[in-house]
Amino acid sequence: MPRNNRTARGGRKAKPDEAEPDLRLDVLRSSLRREVTKRGVDYVVQNVTGNSETEKTWICPHCNIEIKTGTAHVVAWDAIRGVETRRHFHTACFKSFQGPLL
Ligand SMILES: [Zn+2]
Repeated sequence: MPRNNRTARGGRKAKPDEAEPDLRLDVLRSSLRREVTKRGVDYVVQNVTGNSETEKTWICPHCNIEIKTGTAHVVAWDAIRGVETRRHFHTACFKSFQGPLL
């Protein structure tokens, strides 16, 4: 009789070990803000929900296409150089963006 064995556990875990305690403090301050490292450069990334609080539209520096008002996207800036360097990206574009921020 075949036993319904489950595949061995503990072999590989999909659980990310990346969660740093410091990050949680930041999360408490702003649940939308996080840090991402790309090619050794740290970026602060913040989700923008896309409510048309500001009537501005932004040009995504990755695809050079306008981010329309009301579109959820991300704003990212160099953690060292500060918010002066911030740019607005399509959410998907920032994932493939490898820097640098100009
Ligand atoms: Zn884009």
